[in-house]
Order: sequence, then structure tokens, then C-alpha cells
Amino acid sequence: MTWQTVVGLEIHAQMSTETKMFCACVRETGAEANHNICPVCTGWPGALPVLNAEAVRRAIRAAISLGCQIQPESRFDRKNYFYPDLPKGYQISQFYRPYALGGEIHFPREDGTDAVLPLVRIHMEEDAGKSIHADDQTSRIDLNRCSSPLLEIVTEPLPMSGVEAANCVRSTREILRWIGVSDADMEKGNLRADVNVSVRPTGSDPLGTRTELKNLNSFVSIQRSVEVESARQIQVLEAGGVIRQETRLWHQEDEVTEEMRGKEDSPDYRYFPDPDLPVVIIELTDIERERSSLPETPASRRVRLVEQLQIAPREAESILARREFGDFFDAMMAAGLSAASASNWFRGEVLRHLNELELNLDDYPLTAESIAAVVKSVEEDRISVAKGREILQQSIADGRSPTEILAGTSEQVSDESTLMAWVQGVLESHPDVVDKIRAGDARLMGFLTGQVMQASKGAANPRKVQQILQRLIQQS
Ligand code: ADP
Ligand code: MG
Ligand code: ZN
Repeated sequence: MTWQTVVGLEIHAQMSTETKMFCACVRETGAEANHNICPVCTGWPGALPVLNAEAVRRAIRAAISLGCQIQPESRFDRKNYFYPDLPKGYQISQFYRPYALGGEIHFPREDGTDAVLPLVRIHMEEDAGKSIHADDQTSRIDLNRCSSPLLEIVTEPLPMSGVEAANCVRSTREILRWIGVSDADMEKGNLRADVNVSVRPTGSDPLGTRTELKNLNSFVSIQRSVEVESARQIQVLEAGGVIRQETRLWHQEDEVTEEMRGKEDSPDYRYFPDPDLPVVIIELTDIERERSSLPETPASRRVRLVEQLQIAPREAESILARREFGDFFDAMMAAGLSAASASNWFRGEVLRHLNELELNLDDYPLTAESIAAVVKSVEEDRISVAKGREILQQSIADGRSPTEILAGTSEQVSDESTLMAWVQGVLESHPDVVDKIRAGDARLMGFLTGQVMQASKGAANPRKVQQILQRLIQQS
């Protein structure tokens, strides 16, 4: 008998708003412990929450991008439980009436084909604080993260492998980053996933009993926990045992799952509508405003690059790799370059610089406008391609702007009669080379070009020199 693994995900993403979900405290990671807190987010009796409108706008953008149906009316509920990092004794979440239903995540299967993971819902909620268990047997609480705005994206269960489960989270991360809703950085903890795993005999319809692995914070742990947990379940079932619905702990170092507690059911949380917060009303105009502020999607950008701008698909992919790449490419075009030269110089120079310097585009010292100015000088034959590249490199090295370096660069000589004099001088002193070229040794053209460049002390336009050489050698 063979088994099929089924996975359902609950993906938590912290939204990158300035302030927290229900108070004006600054939302930032890495601040001094208990620095960004106030009576509201630390649960003082009588302190009242006020919903952060920017968080709702971001939540709407996420729901649009994931294809959800945004609900005209939604509500916040209290999820009651005790934990030291949750001073209120409840988490504000959306249980009965989430703001977004349905939707889907597109992800690649291991064989490279595209697949769709349907979503159940997305809801808004607040994060809890952090417990820090120190070596000296004490535990400390940092409430900075308390009440940071979260999106919880809940998927339907779908047959998939561990690698594919990680792919689903990766695709979600790409979208959330692309639209600027979340930094979605697993290392910093602002993207986490709960993984629900069950197995069933291949070909059987009803789902097996699932276990839940909470708070996975890397792609490796998502992949491996699915693989290890489904293998464990299969072993139990084949030995005649039963799977208990429970929450299990994932140990990344030993790659094992461990029983943690029986699964809480929703009645355990005594969810009820939060009386401190009014109904959230999202109007069509709100949705349209967010839709119009969304960046071009990767899919529509691909169509524009390939079909409209005639960029080869493989070249387009490197521009599409990150949203800021495409934005920079667009800025180069806006500065007057053709799609073809913007693509060539972006891929050939900008990406190479970023690679060599190990920089993000955000920290790249050159602007699209100054690069365009250099490229235009090349295209107008005032400087050579090599000189253009050199100016960009030099600007990165010494911090002067490319336009400043350009202004101090002597233009190359393209004047026909001046070039002709240099070329003729070289031809006369190398009659043997000319004979060999005429006899078919085309490689020697490079030698002659080099001689002319030398004669001109590097000032001649190499492209024009080649043209003249070719003309003269063929003529006689
Ligand atoms: P909770 O974990 O709060 O009880 P739900 O009952 O809505 O929430 O389910 C949580 C997740 O469990 C969803 O992502 C869902 O797809 C997944 N899930 C439910 N049943 C199964 C199953 N049999 N196998 C794998 N995943 C499942
Ligand atoms: Mg759950
Ligand atoms: Zn606060």
C-alpha cells in the first residue's frame, strides 16, 4: 500500500506598518526590550484599542493580490488564553467574520508544473510578545512585539510534498514582498508557518487525522517537518496504531517531532466578538483605491517586457527577478533609453556591479538617470562602449557622478577625415598584414584596429575605425 501526504498551512506574516495594530506604538524589530509599549498593547485595564487604518489598507492589498473575496463587513473577536507574553489574557483576532474569504496561492510542483493551493480565508490579528528563556533559569518577557499587526493566511488541505509545502510559503513571501505589505523575512520572525500534516492511502478520499507543527521559521524546517511527520504517521498506521489530533513540536537539530499537547479546539478559546472594537466596513471604493495603488504584478510585467518591449524571455527573467530591478529598468527607459539598451546595460553592468559588490539595489550608488546619460553618449558615438563601462566603474569607485566624469572625458574622434589619415598611415606601414587579410585571415583586422587606436592615442572611435578599415581593404 502507498500513502499520500496532505498539507494545510497557516501562514502568519507581520505587516510592515509604522505603528502597531491597535495603538500608536512604533512597530519595529530589534528595539531595546519593552521600549515600544503602552497601556493598550500591555493590556492595562480600561485601555482601549483603536484599529490602525494603514494595517487594514495593507490587508486589503494582500487579499486583492491573493484573489480573495473581501468582505464588506468583518469583525474582531477575542481569542482567550493565558500565556505570560499575552498580558491581556486574550488575542484580538478575526474568528467568526474574517475580512477575506477564498483566494489562492500559485506554487511550483517538484516536477516544475504550476499548481494552485486554494485558501480558506485571511484574517487580521495582533501578535503576542516574546518569552526569552535565559541560561540562568530565568524567563523574561519582551512586549515590543505585542500587538504588532499580523495577517494569517489559512489554506485548504492539499496533497503535496515537503518541498512543495516550502514552495507555497516561498510564493506567498514573494507576493507579500512584491506588494510591500510585509518584509516577510523568516529569519527575523516576521513570516512564520504552522504546518498541518495528515496521510491517507493513495486513492482514498477522506482525509486522515492531522497533526499540527507550530511556528516553523525556515523553509528547510517546513520541508523536513512535513517529510518526517508524514513518515512517522505512516509508521504508526502501518503498525496498526491511530493518529491523535494534536499539536507537535519540531526540533530542527534532531529532525524529529515531539508530542506537545492535545489539540485545542476552538471552544477552548471561548471566542467572542471584541466589544471594544466596531465592525470593520470595507467599501468598494476602498478596494479600488488599493487596487490602483498596487504595483504591476510579475505576470503583467512579464507580458509587457516580452510582448510589448520585445525583450527575449530569458533576459526578461533577470529583470523580473525582483520588483526593484524592474523599477530600475523602467527608470532607465524613462530617462530616455530604448528597451533594448536599458535591458543590455541593466543586465550587463548594473547586475554585474551588484554581484561584485554584493549590494542590494537599494544601496547601489548609481542612478538610472546617470547611467542613461552615459549610455546616450555611447549611442551618440561620443565615447566608446568600453569607455562608458569604465566611467560607471570609476563613479562607483570614487563617488563622483557619472555625468561629472563624463564632462571631464575627452570625446572620441569620429570625424571621417581625421580617422582616414590615421587608418591610411597604418595601412601603409603594414602592407604584409593587408595582404594576409585579403587572403582570408580576418582575425588580423583586430590587429590593425589596435594599431589605429594606438596611433590616435586612444581617441579614435573604434567602431568607425573598423568600418573605414573594412572599406579601404575591400576597395583596393
Ligand atoms: P485550527 O488549526 O485553528 O483548528 P482549522 O481547523 O481551520 O484551524 O485548520 C487549520 C489548518 O489545518 C488548515 O490550513 C487546514 O487546511 C488544515 N487541515 C485541516 N484538516 C487537515 C488534514 N486532514 N490534513 C492536513 N491539513 C488539514
Ligand atoms: Mg491552527
Ligand atoms: Zn502600544
